Amino acid sequence: MTANTPLNILQHTFGYEAFRQPQQDIIDCVCQGGDALVIMPTGGGKSLCYQIPSLARSGVGIVVSPLIALMEDQVNALKELGVNAGYLNSALDLRTAQQVEQDLISGELDLLYIAPERLVQPRTLALLAQAPLALFAIDEAHCVAQWGHDFRADYLSLNILHERFPNVPRIALTATADQRTQAEIVERLSLNNAQQFISGFDRPNIQYRIQQKDKPRNQLLNFLQLEQAGNAGIVYCLSRKKVEETAAWLVTQGYDALPYHAGLPAATRQQNQMRFLRDDNVIIVATIAFGMGIDKPDVRFVVHLDMPKSVEAYYQETGRAGRDGDAATALLLYGLEDVVKLQQMMATSEGSEEFKRHEQQRLSVMLGLCEITTCRRATLLRYFGDELPHPCGNCDNCLQPADTWDASEPVRMALSCVYRSEQRFGASHVIDILRGSDNEKIRKFGHDKLSTYGIGKGLAITEWRSIFRQLVARGYLTVDPNGYGSLILTESCRPILRGEEPIELRKDKATLKAPSVRKRL
Ligand code: ADP
Ligand code: ZN
Repeated sequence: MTANTPLNILQHTFGYEAFRQPQQDIIDCVCQGGDALVIMPTGGGKSLCYQIPSLARSGVGIVVSPLIALMEDQVNALKELGVNAGYLNSALDLRTAQQVEQDLISGELDLLYIAPERLVQPRTLALLAQAPLALFAIDEAHCVAQWGHDFRADYLSLNILHERFPNVPRIALTATADQRTQAEIVERLSLNNAQQFISGFDRPNIQYRIQQKDKPRNQLLNFLQLEQAGNAGIVYCLSRKKVEETAAWLVTQGYDALPYHAGLPAATRQQNQMRFLRDDNVIIVATIAFGMGIDKPDVRFVVHLDMPKSVEAYYQETGRAGRDGDAATALLLYGLEDVVKLQQMMATSEGSEEFKRHEQQRLSVMLGLCEITTCRRATLLRYFGDELPHPCGNCDNCLQPADTWDASEPVRMALSCVYRSEQRFGASHVIDILRGSDNEKIRKFGHDKLSTYGIGKGLAITEWRSIFRQLVARGYLTVDPNGYGSLILTESCRPILRGEEPIELRKDKATLKAPSVRKRL
C-alpha cells in the first residue's frame, strides 16, 4: 500500500500523471482543513479538487450537487475506480437509501453525493452529526446566487453546514461566476475566510463568431460544409420543435444529426447522448437541456441558431467546444426576433418584477455582445472580471474588422416612424410603413397617411432590420414584452430625433463569407 498523499491518489486511483495548474494548491488547502472557493472553466478538472481531499482526509466527503440525474453515473464511475461512493436523492428507493445511511454512519464511505434539498433536512443533518466528516464540497455554487440563471432556493440554506459543522472544511466550486456572483457566493455561504482560486476564463482555442441571421439554414450548411466536414458539434435551438425540425433537416442534408431535449423519452435521450460521446462525427441538435456534465473533449463547434438569454449561458454553452485544446469554433446567429421571443418568455415566466428586470438586463448585455464592433473575447472576459491585454486575433471582429456608416438620417426616420405609429407596433410593421408597403394592416390603421409612410424606400428590409436591431441593442428602443414586441422610444433617443447627435452603425457582414484566416494554435 502506498501512502495516501494527493499525488499518490491521483496516480494510483485516478490513473493520471500530474496535477493540472491550480489543482495541487486547491487540494493542499482543503487537505489542511481550509475553506476554498474555486472558479474554473468547465472541463478544467474541478471534481478532483474535492474527490482527492475526501480520500486523503479521514472521514467521508459530502458533495452537494443539484444535478441529480448525473449522480448515479458519477458514483458508478468512482466505484469502478475502487472508491467507496454513494448518493442520496429522491430517486433512490427507501431500502437503498437506508443502506447508504448505514454506510455513512459506520464510516465506510469515502464520498457521498447529496441533493441540496435532502441535505438540509433535519434528519440528514442529524445523520451527518454521527458520521466522521472529511469535507463539504458545494458543486455548482453559483446556484446560490439569487439573480443567477440557475438559482436554487435550497442552496440558500447551505449556510447551515458552516453553523453546524464549523470545523469541517468547505470547498465551493463553479464554472460560471461574474464578479457579482462570486461576491454573492462568498457572502451567502460565509466563505469570507476561504482561499480563492480563480482560474482564467479565457479559452483561446475557441474562435467566437456572431452574425446576424440571414437564411440561417444556409448559413449553418455553409459553415458545416466549408469548415467542419466530418466533425462533431452541438447546434443549440431555443425550442423543442425547432430542435426536431433542424435535426431532421440536417439528416436530409447527409449529416449524422440527432435531437436532444427534455421532451424526448429518457431512452432516446440516453441513446443520442451515447452516440454523440462515442462516435466521431455526430451533430447533436439540442435545447439548453443538453450539456451540463457532458464530457467530450473533441467537440469542434458549437452553433447557436437562437440567441442565448445571457452572456453566462453563452459562455457556458460555447465552452463545451474544444476542451482538448485544439481549434474550435463558436458560431452564433441572431436576429431581432430572438430578442422579442426571449423577452416574451421572460415576461410570462414566474418570478418577481425585480427578477424579471434583472433577466432583462442580462439579455441586453448579451445583445450588446452581439452588436459590438470590437474584440468579442475581450468583451466576454471583461464580463467575468478578466482583462485581455490586447485584442485576441481569433474572433470575427478581430479577423474582419467591422465597417461602420453614418446612419443618422435613416435612424431619425426609424425613430420618428415608431413615434408616429404610437409605439404600438413591432419592427416588421414599422419597416412596412417606412418602405411604403401596401397591405391590409397598413390600411386598417391608416398608416399610409403617416408622414413617414414610404420615406424609407431607399433601404432594403434586411438593412432596416439591422438598423432596428442595433437601435435596440444600444438602448435607443426597447421592446415591450407585453405588447407583442412593440417598439418603444427611450429617453436617450431625444438628441438624435432633434438632429443634435450623429449616429454611426455597423455594416452587417452576414452576407460575407466566413473569415478566411484561421488562427493556428
Ligand atoms: P469540471 O468539473 O471542471 O468541468 P472535470 O472534473 O469533469 O471538470 O474534469 C474534466 C476532465 O479532465 C475529466 O475527464 C477529468 O478526468 C480530466 N482531468 C481532470 N484533472 C486531470 C489531470 N490532472 N490530469 C488529467 N486529466 C484530468
Ligand atoms: Zn478578438
